[in-house]
Amino acid sequence: MKRPIQLVDLHTQYQRIKEEIDSAVLRVVESTAYINGPEVHDFAKELGEFLDVKHVIPCANGTDALQIAMMALGLKPGDEVLTPSFTYIATAEVIALLQLKPVFVEVDPDTFTIDINDARTKVTDRTKAIVPVHLYGQSADMDAVMSFAKETGISVVEDTAQAIGSNFTGKSGIAQKVGTIGDIGTTSFFPSKNLGCYGDGGAIFTNDDDLAQKLKRIANHGQRVRYYHDDIGVNSRLDSIQAAILRIKLRHLPDYITARNEVADHYDRELGVLDGIQVPARASYSDHGFHQYTLKLEGIDREGLQNHLSEKGIPSNIYYPVAIHLQKGYTQYGMKEGDMPMTEALSAAVLSLPIHTEMDSEQLFAITNAIKEYINS
Ligand SMILES: *Cc1c(COP(=O)(O)O)cnc(C)c1O
Repeated sequence: MKRPIQLVDLHTQYQRIKEEIDSAVLRVVESTAYINGPEVHDFAKELGEFLDVKHVIPCANGTDALQIAMMALGLKPGDEVLTPSFTYIATAEVIALLQLKPVFVEVDPDTFTIDINDARTKVTDRTKAIVPVHLYGQSADMDAVMSFAKETGISVVEDTAQAIGSNFTGKSGIAQKVGTIGDIGTTSFFPSKNLGCYGDGGAIFTNDDDLAQKLKRIANHGQRVRYYHDDIGVNSRLDSIQAAILRIKLRHLPDYITARNEVADHYDRELGVLDGIQVPARASYSDHGFHQYTLKLEGIDREGLQNHLSEKGIPSNIYYPVAIHLQKGYTQYGMKEGDMPMTEALSAAVLSLPIHTEMDSEQLFAITNAIKEYINS
């Protein structure tokens, strides 16, 4: 039977590693060490080695990871945190939730990552942190972010939810994994992420020993030793079954990234020459995890193209149709339509194509041929 084209195909991916996964899950069930068992400890250690970072603190999901990171910075209500408006809501949500003020920054129209020139115009004496998001799988310009943070004396929390395993190679010439460059990095193991588990999961990274202790405490009710609570914390844990699954999938992550890049290369080749379509820019300082493969359309009716693809059984999606500064829950921060032209133009122009680890060339040509057909009609 022909496999339908999907935005992600977790079922086929599972089939290929089914035996390993099934026995690992059963092993945890038999062990009854469901919370904070050895699998969680071993996964944190293995992920730390893979990323080359000193501390990995697993937690319940990527949003919690961001929240715990923000809590560990010891910010005061009203302190300002710079964040892109062109990102998933979680990035800004945790800032707002902690009574901090999200200050929205434009992104570079080619790389979709935070524009430090715009950030510079938005600094006040209350600015305390910046959250670069490595959107769609590619690193933000971390040299620019880090020198800006140094100049202004603010903290850096990298949102790595879409880019785990990607490398930033800046002027030092040394490749560093995203999420290990700023003060703290965070990620998500939501099933469709590049390293996804079979439920919810997340993690926080840092090379700073003191911050690591604080992050660990906050994720565990602020607890220093059992029943002694030094901080106000939360309850945010990765469970042992998810950790066991992640240990297996971590070993496959480099291959998964390669498979995603092969899909991206096909799209680049077939679509890069078409008028009105801009394929994703490849930044010189980053490789790409291709969590999303996102086109920018110019003068092409996006809805019309989506409908044409849909009729042929090809799903597509818009990440994200409304920038955060224009979301109803967030207009209280004082931004209105027209205030962020770059971001608003991107919201109207982007279209993401199916990309995952299990695509075959028949599927890929079906997609690119359908796009060409629409453009030439
Ligand atoms: C998925 C995602 C998150 C949130 O992760 P969850 O595990 O769903 O809470 C945060 N930031 C970005 C950029 C994401 O893509």
